[in-house]
Amino acid sequence: MKYTALSLFPDIIDAFMRHSIMAKAIERGLVAYQSVNIRDFAFDRHKVCDDAPYGGGAGMLMLPEPVGRALEYVGVKNRFESRPLSGGRDGDEETVVAPAVASAVKKRVVYLTPSGRSFTQAVAHGLAAEQELVLLCGRYEGMDQRIIDAYVDDEISVGDYVLSSGEVAALVVIDATYRLVEQVISPLSLEEESFGRGLLEYPQWTRPEKYGTLKAPDILLSGHHENIRRWRLRKQVEKTLAFRPDLIKKGLEEHRFDAETRKIIDDIAEMQRGEDERN
Ligand code: SAM
Repeated sequence: MKYTALSLFPDIIDAFMRHSIMAKAIERGLVAYQSVNIRDFAFDRHKVCDDAPYGGGAGMLMLPEPVGRALEYVGVKNRFESRPLSGGRDGDEETVVAPAVASAVKKRVVYLTPSGRSFTQAVAHGLAAEQELVLLCGRYEGMDQRIIDAYVDDEISVGDYVLSSGEVAALVVIDATYRLVEQVISPLSLEEESFGRGLLEYPQWTRPEKYGTLKAPDILLSGHHENIRRWRLRKQVEKTLAFRPDLIKKGLEEHRFDAETRKIIDDIAEMQRGEDERN
């Protein structure tokens, strides 16, 4: 998997790529990364990258030309033009842009935006299977629509809230997807995590056995693997029912759960009904 980040502040993303499991994944050749500063593709001497929106309204928008030129530089083609749009405009000084990188690698251009489709673990799995993700980070009030129309394959929102920068959203997408790339993390760890089987993860404890007056559950110290597995599955169902009943509903509708999980869900529902009747 290759990540190409296009941003006005690429340092934010660069810093993340130098750390921890990501650094090892890059060292092992499982992940590649390049960042491009959109400002390097501004065509005037002041390197302006924003302007007021047509029709009025608050804030500024990112200018299409620097963004388009940065995209073409990394090998993304404009759907509506037969040759790269690399010139300046209205007599502005023209900056020379290196020719677009020719590559046979299939790129998926993702614009991070609160008005995109929701980013979920399932979407992360889909993106992790791509050869290259080109992540376009917005600033100000966002992007001129022509850039989206001409270059973008996918618009993704990392949540129903508005961030001030696309870099933070791009980092969410990078962090959630690179760990799904084959060999970065063991498949067993991924399966046991939240969302792995349509449930949230079970609660966990580590040393010491006693932390103040709080003790780790005896069953986890019992060494009885089968009992521990069953207990953890029940905890997963309980936690998912409490925090994310929508996941249980979806899992049942999509027949994602095995017989054991369905029985736990039924038992808990039965207990709940009993309690409701008594109250
Ligand atoms: N005016 C935009 C709107 O209301 O949809 C918000 C622009 S936001 C202040 C600036 C940039 O942050 C966006 O262009 C986008 O790249 C990024 N951003 C903000 N919230 C995001 C979210 N929930 N998901 C993905 N990107 C987001």
